[in-house]
Amino acid sequence: MAIRTTLYGYQVENGKTVIHNEESEVVKRVFSLYVEGETLNSIATMLTEENVAYFQDEVKWNKNTIKRMIENEKYMGNEVYPMIISTSLFNQAKTVKESKSCKQETHTPEVELFREIAVCGKCGSRFKRVNTWGTREKWMCSKGCKCSIYIDDAILEYVVTGNLSMVIRNLDLLNIVADSQYMPTIDVTKEENELIRLLEQPKLKFSAVAKCILQGAKVRFDCCKFDNGELTEELKDEISSIDKIDYRIMKEYIKQIIIQPDGRIITVFINNAEITNGGAENAS
Ligand SMILES: [Zn+2]
Repeated sequence: MAIRTTLYGYQVENGKTVIHNEESEVVKRVFSLYVEGETLNSIATMLTEENVAYFQDEVKWNKNTIKRMIENEKYMGNEVYPMIISTSLFNQAKTVKESKSCKQETHTPEVELFREIAVCGKCGSRFKRVNTWGTREKWMCSKGCKCSIYIDDAILEYVVTGNLSMVIRNLDLLNIVADSQYMPTIDVTKEENELIRLLEQPKLKFSAVAKCILQGAKVRFDCCKFDNGELTEELKDEISSIDKIDYRIMKEYIKQIIIQPDGRIITVFINNAEITNGGAENAS
């Protein structure tokens, strides 16, 4: 079987490397698609489905073919290869690639889980975690309500773990039936304003935010919806035997994390019990 010896997008004519018209169009398309957000896999699938030949009528696109293509600096042109891709498009693709690989490396399984179950406190749509450069992690509503808030991964994990461990210590938190609407008192409002102020600081102090969240929890009572008693009893039973909290435990017992625009984080358990920030401790 013959293998390709000339870089895709080019052909050799009279000993000189020149642009292959059709193939070079495919190269341009691959770079554009990638910059627009398609993945290596989705691009490979697209070309395969369209029957685009890679070499001698052979259709063989995969993730790695695409990856090697967007990484190949020759497409920007040099003494041998004429330019197919502008330096600026090449660099855009490079930035996208770097941001993706950096995302993959830094995400803990906990953060992956939060990305799956976080919802917007205002409209209930998925809350998306937006990668920001450096230390700040931003979450925003995936629908049009424009809610967004900076919450460091460490804070989010701290709060959710805190909610869970509070429930383990006090299983009855799972069956609180609140009959009153949540009415913030002056103290609560003060705490919340302080929390918003802290979260908006350009440099976040983890200890200050954590302290503020827990203080807030002390003065706060939020209502908890209650589903059915049987599930709650089972849940209590299982939760009481947890000795170590990790993402698997979170995944099993936590249904949703509601992120309010004011920085409150509500953990919703699978029986619909809701624990706000540090918990509904003084509800009992
Ligand atoms: Zn929303």
